[in-house]
Amino acid sequence: MNEQKNFSGGPGALPLAVLRQTRDAIEALPETGLSVLGMSHRSAWFRAVLDEAEQNLRTLLGIPSHYHVLFMQGGSSLQFSMLPMNFLRGTKQRAEYIVSGYWSAKAPPEARHEGPVSVVWDGYDGGYTRLPHADELPLSRHAAYLHYVSNETVEGLEFAGVPGLPDVPLVCDMSSNLLAGPVDIERYAMIYAHAQKNLGPSGVTVVILRDDFARRARGSLPTMLDYRTHIDTRSLYNTPPVFAIYVLMLVTRWLRDDIGGVAAMADINHAKARTVYGALDAHPGFYRVHAERPYRSSMNIAFRLPDAVTETLFLDAAKRDGFHGLEGHRSIGGLRASLYNAVTPEATAALAQWLTDFAQRYG
Ligand SMILES: *Cc1c(COP(=O)(O)O)cnc(C)c1O
Repeated sequence: MNEQKNFSGGPGALPLAVLRQTRDAIEALPETGLSVLGMSHRSAWFRAVLDEAEQNLRTLLGIPSHYHVLFMQGGSSLQFSMLPMNFLRGTKQRAEYIVSGYWSAKAPPEARHEGPVSVVWDGYDGGYTRLPHADELPLSRHAAYLHYVSNETVEGLEFAGVPGLPDVPLVCDMSSNLLAGPVDIERYAMIYAHAQKNLGPSGVTVVILRDDFARRARGSLPTMLDYRTHIDTRSLYNTPPVFAIYVLMLVTRWLRDDIGGVAAMADINHAKARTVYGALDAHPGFYRVHAERPYRSSMNIAFRLPDAVTETLFLDAAKRDGFHGLEGHRSIGGLRASLYNAVTPEATAALAQWLTDFAQRYG
């Protein structure tokens, strides 16, 4: 089954145990005897699914009760717009943004529709190969918020620490590494992550929002674009993506019961990443990792070969041998191996061996 060797950047691999339960649920849910695709979002069954998904996320990440957990639509791209609509519009403050890669660069243009924006650091000139140090960030105590992306999915850069000033609300797009390891939730005013990289299928976005920050939203916003709507209705203002939330709930259950939590997951993920970086670093003249060493991501490994012809050869040979999703993002090309939670240590070891064999043949 190809799912075992799926290194796609997103939508990414899901655990085999979850896929099997999902397959059965499409025909008939064990609890109701009906297909998950035909279940009412107002049913008691779905209320229980929502409650368990929220509770599992709270348990896994240690989310305190003064934070809301919302299940929204529109992907992380909608959050780029909703964040400044709710928390920059109508203030006299500036919003601060760290631009460290393809995805974080998408956020400031959306904020500029709503108010003044400071890009406090931009890695574009360096080709997005590293992340800023704390002393490189000219931060203000008066900013409306500071926004950053904890893991740059395209370039394969991951923050080891948490940037920002204690008094300024910190907002983070964790689309590609939420649930990959522990998070110090109380450092943040808001965290968001769509499901399709590490949490489940596409169609649902998790938003973790501190209550006092949420209540700061001002102005008369369209109902669906106001976080307070989703807080007050507990993510049931309109029809939510029932199927995506159901599968996300199964993924959180798998992480809790089969893996044993996010700290155990982080150990597994770090070991997986070491295996693949080790294979790449063993052939430095052949494989070239995009990220500078201290900023390397454990989720996404972007790398290049000496020339485009060899890269094409690589992708063809990989596919033939059952390794999928290794092409780089269309914005930078090259190659990328994504090692999300559901990618097994066995699949990762097989990839590392394959990388070694390929280098010995063509290097
Ligand atoms: C993939 C990705 C996005 C885009 O999310 P959509 O749900 O497609 O809008 C945003 N941020 C990060 C960090 C991503 O990896």
